[in-house]
Amino acid sequence: MSILDSKIPEGPLADKWTNHKNKIDLVNPANKRNIDVIVVGTGLAGGSAAATLAELGYNVKTFCYQDSPRRAHSIAAQGGINAAKNYQGDGDSNYRLFYDTVKGGDYRSREANVYRLAEVSGNIIDQCVAQGVPFAREYGGLLDNRSFGGVLVSRTFYAKGQTGQQLLLGAYSAMNRQINRGKIKPYNRHEMLDIVKVDGKARGIIARDLVTGAIERHSAHAVVLATGGYGNVFFLSTNAMGSNVTAAWRAHRRGAYFANPCYTQIHPTCIPVSGDHQSKLTLMSESLRNDGRIWVPKKLEDAQAIREGKKKPTELSEEERDYYLERRYPAFGNLVPRDVASRAAKERCDAGFGVNKTGEAVYLDFAAAIQRYGKETALTEHISNPSEEEIKKLGAAVIENKYGNLFQMYQKIVDENPYETPMMIYPAVHYTMGGLWVDYNLQTTIEGCYAAGEANFSDHGANRLGASALMQGLADGYFVLPYTIGDYLSNDIRTGEISTETPEFDQAEKEVTERIQKLMGGAGNHSVDYYHKKLGKIMWNKCGMSRNAQGLSEAIDEIAALRKDFWENVKIPGTINSMNPELEKAGRVADFLELGELFAKDALDRNESCGGHFREESVEQSGEQKGEALRDDENFKYVSAWEYKGEPKDAQLHKEELIFKNIELKTRSYK
Ligand SMILES: Cc1cc2nc3c(=O)[nH]c(=O)nc-3n(C[C@H](O)[C@H](O)[C@H](O)COP(=O)(O)OP(=O)(O)OC[C@H]3O[C@@H](n4cnc5c(N)ncnc54)[C@H](O)[C@@H]3O)c2cc1C
Repeated sequence: MSILDSKIPEGPLADKWTNHKNKIDLVNPANKRNIDVIVVGTGLAGGSAAATLAELGYNVKTFCYQDSPRRAHSIAAQGGINAAKNYQGDGDSNYRLFYDTVKGGDYRSREANVYRLAEVSGNIIDQCVAQGVPFAREYGGLLDNRSFGGVLVSRTFYAKGQTGQQLLLGAYSAMNRQINRGKIKPYNRHEMLDIVKVDGKARGIIARDLVTGAIERHSAHAVVLATGGYGNVFFLSTNAMGSNVTAAWRAHRRGAYFANPCYTQIHPTCIPVSGDHQSKLTLMSESLRNDGRIWVPKKLEDAQAIREGKKKPTELSEEERDYYLERRYPAFGNLVPRDVASRAAKERCDAGFGVNKTGEAVYLDFAAAIQRYGKETALTEHISNPSEEEIKKLGAAVIENKYGNLFQMYQKIVDENPYETPMMIYPAVHYTMGGLWVDYNLQTTIEGCYAAGEANFSDHGANRLGASALMQGLADGYFVLPYTIGDYLSNDIRTGEISTETPEFDQAEKEVTERIQKLMGGAGNHSVDYYHKKLGKIMWNKCGMSRNAQGLSEAIDEIAALRKDFWENVKIPGTINSMNPELEKAGRVADFLELGELFAKDALDRNESCGGHFREESVEQSGEQKGEALRDDENFKYVSAWEYKGEPKDAQLHKEELIFKNIELKTRSYK
């Protein structure tokens, strides 16, 4: 086992990034014109990176599997994006954002990266406003903020419940400007299936044209992977159906270490699973916890009556309700971090207080907020003695203004009116903190191969705070990578164009082609989804919200057996040389079947509870924190970075020791 060098610059925390930028090498504008960069992924991280690199003068090729960068999963982001602007004057600062993020991640992230993230967060908002992103504004015209979990300030900028969409339109417009200038050449509907290394350096990719099936070679001086998260290893998640691990996994197989694969975020406020027919889960944004109160009935008999349809939630008085987050965590209340809120919901449902037919749902209730806003509006509009009816109407209008599209979405899916009756919610897989290991420069362990956005492991530790993924993806793409990659590329100003007619490209293309042929050769009758669902069940039951050694060991064996069966018996209709969505899916599920095993191995290795990783063997046994996750800083204060060695079970662990000099390591408490 080796110790990894994260290349954190020397000096005081607040000066590291500035000093680093001042010292690293630059590429002069004329030389940039001779350097090619491949950016795989055009969501917020890849789109912003590609636009900025092209603006700087590099020749950029972008790849995405959708028909347009506009359709990246980032478009689904609802609630908002954090920045330490302190517009509310509530005491926010770079240090506070840094502190909240490190604490939120249960002290399992790198101090220097997180501080840099806080430092550039304000620039992101300025950049996006300049692009025309329509962030919500207050009455006076200033940008508005709301709160997200795990913090005591309001620092989240938002565009109703469509923040990701608006930010992506901004990044996409910036990309389009460069496409028009000929500085970005977009390859949409192309899937990267391998990375090509020449003399140990990333020098290109092998991609499949998803329309014609043609296998293509593309070369560059550096490759950026901004290919999103791998939550779909659970089959059911809030991620877009296409989100997958293939690009990251293929890089892993070529030498990029995979960090903390077991760190998964299970989001507390999703629409509960309704049956086996489902292939997708829907998020109800965390922003709703600004105004929604979470509760279950206090008495088991009331919960049972509700489940059986004999009682309605609105019939229960205040005294008959258990606002369990407000009760257990008075300081943060409904805005505790996601891992804490999810576990608390599971605890109540496991104890029999669940409120839907399956017993796996709790309420998110807006009645109090509707009353509060209604009375406030009546007062400001000088309506004297408003009736109950009027107050409700005025309050509902405020709620609609803030969260209208989310309420509409809920009503369409569940067929209940959330203005009249509380929403039902339950935790679901949402985000993956793990990903490709990167150093401070966002370079993976393959020289010249960088990773940005959700695809890397960099900033969130064992739990991500709400509204911080968009911040990190855009920080990486607009403000970090464009600088750090220059330091590497400054060695390539005399290299010239990278040829694709080399033995390395021949070999990589051959391996990709053979793998596709092998996939098509399955002799059985099972669909790709058959295997994906089975994998998802193993992952959810044995590597999900709570984990133990026995379950994880079983998962490792079961996934290995499932993978073997998959390769022998998967049935893929259609042909290779045409558009074939089943074939695309098969390649992705094949990679999930390897990642899933490494995930379980990583979770088994980490015999502590931290953030979203809850090991039943490591729980606080007494005192104020009784029942909460118990971290073990003495033995596990490290990033796990796994090196590919053939089968996932043979992966070799490397550790990056986490050093905390600017923040005191404490028990994470939100009470
Ligand atoms: C429902 C939902 C709501 C969310 N809301 C918020 C929020 O309010 N605030 C917040 O901060 N975060 C939110 N998140 C998280 C956030 O949206 C994501 O973490 C973030 O958008 C990821 O951006 P990305 O650029 O890293 O990846 P993505 O947006 O997932 O983009 C991945 C890109 O990679 C491409 N790609 C992948 N594999 C390949 C391949 N092999 N070959 C070619 N191209 C490939 C895809 O085509 C795509 O262009 C939310 C997540 C979900 C699921």
